[in-house]
Amino acid sequence: MESILVLTHVDEAGAALTKASMEAVGAGQELAARLGAALAVGIVAANPQQLKLELPCAALAVHGEAFAQARYATDAAACEALCRAAQATLVLAPHSARFARVMAGVAHRVGGAIDTHITAITGADAVQVSRWFYRQRMEATLTREQRPWFLLLEPGTQVAYADTGQAAALTLIEVARPETRTAVQGLRAPQQAGGETIRPEARLLFVAGAGWTKKQPDGQVHAVEAGDIILRFLRDSGASLGSSKSLVDQGGDGHSVLPFLTHMNQVGQTGATPRHPKGLATCCHGEEPHVVGWRFIGERRAISLDPNCGWSRGKADVVYVADAFAVMAKVNELLESNS
Ligand SMILES: Cc1cc2nc3c(=O)[nH]c(=O)nc-3n(C[C@H](O)[C@H](O)[C@H](O)COP(=O)(O)OP(=O)(O)OC[C@H]3O[C@@H](n4cnc5c(N)ncnc54)[C@H](O)[C@@H]3O)c2cc1C
Repeated sequence: MESILVLTHVDEAGAALTKASMEAVGAGQELAARLGAALAVGIVAANPQQLKLELPCAALAVHGEAFAQARYATDAAACEALCRAAQATLVLAPHSARFARVMAGVAHRVGGAIDTHITAITGADAVQVSRWFYRQRMEATLTREQRPWFLLLEPGTQVAYADTGQAAALTLIEVARPETRTAVQGLRAPQQAGGETIRPEARLLFVAGAGWTKKQPDGQVHAVEAGDIILRFLRDSGASLGSSKSLVDQGGDGHSVLPFLTHMNQVGQTGATPRHPKGLATCCHGEEPHVVGWRFIGERRAISLDPNCGWSRGKADVVYVADAFAVMAKVNELLESNS
């Protein structure tokens, strides 16, 4: 008989469980109901007593300032203590940066096995999990005998637990503070020209391709105009910005570039695989190594001058064969008149 522990952590402000944590709780609740298994939630936070805990089951939490910051030694000790207290056979956790770096170590400490990048949990009798390999090209279904079995769930793949307004019972677990050599003094993020353009929670992913900086029908390059159009659209729509590899690579090749793009924006086989309900590709050809990064985009649209582009050959739901400069200028005009 399986029993389930869902490990969660708070956001940077320490004020609430992260969205990805609540998705893991949602997955845990669904799996517990399917297997008839016991469910518990474990919390890594400095002040769990001050959290508004609306959960489907009782919670265990570590507490103390040592657990406010993400740090291998303290996070691993916290998760290990929660696992030992719960004695669960299945441990679900969000595949966040904070948990991804400690969970393999925690699984090893408690004699378990771990699988990462999980996108689905299925199976009625035996638990089966899915993950993608080779840059989202091949999907595998895995099962394991070894317990405890740790599963790191990809954010955005599970439905977040919707609270019932019922406060969960909280049990505090004492953890001796491990020896640490790292003191976190603060966070410094690089300033991006044009502001923060990668917005994982946005409803729309707007992808810019190399066409924005290519010669246009008048024989000229309009990179500055392209940058203005794109930034106006991002500002007014709240969309997240993605790019094709060709466009971000141009900077290194000494060609006209959009100054606010970096390789962090790149979507594709050698780039990111973002998750958004909708995506709009502009001035981008829709080559396979780019499109594999669209695996988790719900509705796909594209604007390209080329009626034979990859998008037209079955990779997009809707393709506008049109000049993206003209279309996006009109869209910006409409967005501004509606605001
Ligand atoms: C091993 C490998 C890994 C790769 N990994 C990645 C990856 O991770 N991500 C990635 O993106 N690529 C990747 N690539 C490269 C990929 O194959 C393509 O070369 C690249 O994505 C093409 O970028 P693009 O569509 O922006 O540019 P282009 O192929 O140059 O296409 C530009 C498009 O813009 C259109 N256009 C021009 N002007 C306008 C206008 N005014 N209005 C509308 N449309 C216009 C043109 O018609 C054209 O279709 C990889 C390639 C390899 C071999």
